Amino acid sequence: MNQDVVQVQCPKCLQIGQSSNRRAARWDCPCGYSYYFRRCSACGVVSHVTSVQRRHEPWDCTWCKAANQGYTSRNDPATATLGDLAADMASHGLDFIRRQPEPVRDTQPVLIVTTNEVPGYRITQVHGDVFGLIVRARNYFSNMGAQLRTLAGGEVAGYTKLLTDSRNQARERMWREARARGANAIVAMRFDCNEIGDIMSEVAAYGTAVTVEPIQAAAARIGPAAGHVSQGRHGQAPHLTGELTDTVP
Ligand SMILES: [Zn+2]
Ligand SMILES: [Zn+2]
Repeated sequence: MNQDVVQVQCPKCLQIGQSSNRRAARWDCPCGYSYYFRRCSACGVVSHVTSVQRRHEPWDCTWCKAANQGYTSRNDPATATLGDLAADMASHGLDFIRRQPEPVRDTQPVLIVTTNEVPGYRITQVHGDVFGLIVRARNYFSNMGAQLRTLAGGEVAGYTKLLTDSRNQARERMWREARARGANAIVAMRFDCNEIGDIMSEVAAYGTAVTVEPIQAAAARIGPAAGHVSQGRHGQAPHLTGELTDTVP
């Protein structure tokens, strides 16, 4: 009886639940809806029927939407189980309903730069400074012993790699903080390395988290108003958005 776990999706909330009881005739979704399983007379696939359905009350198939006659008795031939539903879904190539993907917002990662501006982009919002920090005990370096002393062309390869990793980690932590604030870029990024009391070594990455948008998109949004004297919003003074012509004295 207790075979492999089957998955079942709630047609109301789209949550996917799991059950190890393939012979269950009823399934309760954590959202509060409960379902019985009945075989659709139109498509022949097992469908969910809400538990509030009354006897003889018609129900619509989850898959083909066909209206089915109401369930009559306990020994109704339409009776099915969770396992039947899973088997039918597999044999008919039916998939769970995917949630609508989140609309892509303008906060996708763009870049981290050391300059104060991003050419081609306009800063629309400043979220403040962000940093990422990594601190390592000094003996971590000396413990690496021989590995650090392997010189390749005068370069201490192991040490270079270690410091590169430290910087990358600091940078990644800084980036995560920026993303958490809703930024999609970091400007004026810097690294800072310090020794702390000769026992620890610190690498910090810091910069200013900003939201940028391509200048093209910004211009398109201004649209037909561009090139006209527009009345400033909220009672501000009107400003010129049109071309400026230099007057030669
Ligand atoms: Zn549900
Ligand atoms: Zn059907």
